[in-house]
Amino acid sequence: MNIHEYQAKAVLKDYGVPVSAGVPAFTVEEAVAAAKSLPGPLYVVKSQIHAGGRGKGKFKELGAEAKGGVRLAFSADEVAAHAKEMLGHTLVTVQTGPTGKQVNRLYIEDGSDIARELYLSALVDRTTGSIGFVVSTEGGMDIETVAHATPDKIHTFHVDPAAGYQGYVGRNIAYALKLEGNQIKQCVKLIGDLYRAFTEKDMAMLEVNPLIVTKGGDLKVLDAKVNFDSNALYRHPEIVALRDESEEDAKEIEASKFDLAYIALDGTIGCMVNGAGLAMATLDIIQLYGESPANFLDVGGGASEEKVTAAFKIITSDPNVKGILVNIFGGIMKCDIIARGVLAAVRTVGLTVPLVVRLTGTNEELGRQIIRDSGLNVIPANDLDDAAQKIVTAVRG
Ligand code: GDP
Ligand code: MG
Repeated sequence: MNIHEYQAKAVLKDYGVPVSAGVPAFTVEEAVAAAKSLPGPLYVVKSQIHAGGRGKGKFKELGAEAKGGVRLAFSADEVAAHAKEMLGHTLVTVQTGPTGKQVNRLYIEDGSDIARELYLSALVDRTTGSIGFVVSTEGGMDIETVAHATPDKIHTFHVDPAAGYQGYVGRNIAYALKLEGNQIKQCVKLIGDLYRAFTEKDMAMLEVNPLIVTKGGDLKVLDAKVNFDSNALYRHPEIVALRDESEEDAKEIEASKFDLAYIALDGTIGCMVNGAGLAMATLDIIQLYGESPANFLDVGGGASEEKVTAAFKIITSDPNVKGILVNIFGGIMKCDIIARGVLAAVRTVGLTVPLVVRLTGTNEELGRQIIRDSGLNVIPANDLDDAAQKIVTAVRG
């Protein structure tokens, strides 16, 4: 689960992490009031969407000269002008895709004077079984470009989970970031605070880009992106309360109600598969034959007819779906349950696109029989390869 920058900063602030003073705003009036409550004379007006690259982003409706989604202002009037151009408008960044995201919230921050922009992130490193901090002196810009062009400028440090956070990790990070004097001490504390926040709140990823050195020589977190481990949310009601459903895919929200592992993608072939591995293989083989999947969906091992029906409804509610591929290897999941679920869903939502079904394993004959008897226009397939070719041919008309 993702949260907004201003929420992430509030979480980090509770752990003693240095951030700028700021106030969230949902209207132009609130933005002005927020600015008036801050010391000034420099303010930052920041679009709050669940995507990065806002600074270099563009507002769709505002034409070529439109400034980005993060702007500096020198008066409350200027804050109002920026707020008017942002609120309710669609911001397109490298991370939103071409459709962009509507800005419904702003964060008005006390502006900082920046001496250096650094990069810092923390993530769960499965290879070492520990939390890794990735840092670079090249902050503020696209870190993927830095990683590609100058990989020697990216440094990784791990915290041994048995020993817990130790000051030497923070010092090594400080040296890698070319910090000096009192900044080294600040860095040792900062990494410790971030580590505590990361582990106690069950974060999956934390990205601070940029971490700045102010003109006064102090470290400060200027941007924060946090992703939480969804499997641990049950023990963090205070984090769940920060959820902004308007930022999430409606189909994914619906899927989560039925405990379905569903991820929306931008292709044209809807997929219903059991088992994450088979689902991944199905996405790959669709690509191999030249089309793209509209979703990842693992209906799981013990799915009920109700769950399958819900899954099928979610797939057909996506207007990009031009064809559906049902690929079931019946182990624990029985083929007849899938067949009944598909039929129940088709009866309620109708079927306007080609449907290819591959059923094999437990009760496969019964499953096929149910589908044959239904009178539905289903294209049967023998194996994964056959199924992928058939659905690709079908959507191409
Ligand atoms: P992002 O573009 O979505 O990553 O948004 P950021 O919060 O990282 O802001 C983008 C850029 O705006 C930063 O890299 C800074 O260069 C600039 N910026 C943000 N806040 C301030 C500030 O308080 N003062 C100044 N001078 N620049 C800022
Ligand atoms: Mg940033």
